[in-house]
Amino acid sequence: MRNCIRPVVIIFILSAFTLAQTNNLDALKKEALAKVDARQQLVQQMVDQIFSYGELGFQEVETSKYVTGILEKNGFKVQRGVAGIPTAWIATYGSGKPVIGFITDIDCIPRASQKPGVAYHDPIIDGAPGHGEGHNSGMAVNVTAALVLKELMIEHKIPGTLKVFPGVAEELLGTKAFLIRAGLFKDVDAVLGVHVADEFGTGYGQTFAPQGLVSVQYFFHGKAAHAAGAPWDGRSALDAVELMDTGWNFRREHLRLQQRSHYLIINGGDQPNVVPSEAGVWYYFRELDYPHILESYKLGDTMAQAASMMTGTTFTKKLVGSAWPPHFNKVIAEVQQKNIEAVGMPTWDAADQTLAKALQKELGKPEDGLKNKVEELKPPSPENEPGGSDDVGDISWVVPMVYLRYPANIPHTPGHSWADGIAMATPLAHKGSTAGAKVQALTALDLILLPETLQKAWAYYRDVQTKDLTYTPLIAPEDQPAIEMNREKMEKFRPEMRKYYYDSSKYHTYLEQLGIGYPTVKK
Ligand SMILES: [Zn+2]
Repeated sequence: MRNCIRPVVIIFILSAFTLAQTNNLDALKKEALAKVDARQQLVQQMVDQIFSYGELGFQEVETSKYVTGILEKNGFKVQRGVAGIPTAWIATYGSGKPVIGFITDIDCIPRASQKPGVAYHDPIIDGAPGHGEGHNSGMAVNVTAALVLKELMIEHKIPGTLKVFPGVAEELLGTKAFLIRAGLFKDVDAVLGVHVADEFGTGYGQTFAPQGLVSVQYFFHGKAAHAAGAPWDGRSALDAVELMDTGWNFRREHLRLQQRSHYLIINGGDQPNVVPSEAGVWYYFRELDYPHILESYKLGDTMAQAASMMTGTTFTKKLVGSAWPPHFNKVIAEVQQKNIEAVGMPTWDAADQTLAKALQKELGKPEDGLKNKVEELKPPSPENEPGGSDDVGDISWVVPMVYLRYPANIPHTPGHSWADGIAMATPLAHKGSTAGAKVQALTALDLILLPETLQKAWAYYRDVQTKDLTYTPLIAPEDQPAIEMNREKMEKFRPEMRKYYYDSSKYHTYLEQLGIGYPTVKK
């Protein structure tokens, strides 16, 4: 009899324990929501401040200084310049298990300068970089959530560690593989990533643009000569670039449909009467998975080799970025989905909708305004879905990770353009980022307070995701982060941009500082 009773007793004790914990969790979640609401001004200031910095990948100097300053002031320990990347850092709070990581991008887009709240192309500074992707809002989401969690951990004596990471140079797919190589995710139990979107959702498996890539620059080296006087003494590096491109374009027909590639010439020489001794071309080789990405990359090397042989030149190359196709954790995504549904869409007002519809009209897109319903849990994408890449993919292969898409932008924008910056320092982005911060805080509480969720997440990671596939970085041991990228571009525009940095001590919002009525639309 005893043997029969014991399991019943144990089950009773366990369920009573879980019930108490769940009650506690519900109360904590309510508290978390209230604490995020109490920080709406911080969200607004961070969104606006980082928008005004508009820094390109690897040059996120002001942004990193500002964000780490806030975290440090709030008791986080900051380690700067990690993985050999000057603008990368980790901010840590707490101790012991579990270790929850938060990550989001901080860099912007070339030539995307745009006045916020104005529903047509109107740059703050013509030709300058700008947040034409909305990466300025992610840190407002993650830092707000982290500060709220820290407060709850102190007040309720909850053990655990919070780690905030920046996505440096995401637009170049430039850093995540190096952060992993530096061992920065070794002790992390789960990563909650966020990315700006025009919708509120999450998913599992390969949920967007199922492509990874390598981004490589090829530099050809020839011999200068007078192009008319002694061309036979010269060897043209530009010829090599053109032959490599021609070779690739013919070969393209015979590649898998899943492959996508693009290039641009970064250096075509100096002037026509000098045989170009130096020329360079920059390739993106995209494919579905690691073996095919590597195959494409090797084929690129073959084209470069052949072009150099044909032209009597030599070549060197530099890897600029790499990304594994992401795979997000089903267990955590299901938990996160419930939190998205609990938080719900922000309440858009007439001004938000007017801005959205005016931009949609300007772009010649359906004028259906902002979304009013959260998305359903997104299953893995079909192989042929169009889209880009994101180097958070690498992180998703070394630790269970999810990627929250929070609603801080306008539907039907083209991406990577001035149009995507319009909403990003307006009430629309402030509201969407606040909603995102709530889901981040709630999901972290689920992971910290219910250890079985993390156990199940790791079981999915081990037994499903990595059952037949282990992570091998696309970077070679000799590859280093391309930290010199964008330096000249940023130096060119920064002095003028400084005049427009947001001053939150003088102005309630960046719109107020710029003197922009919200919304400003064509009559
Ligand atoms: Zn992005």
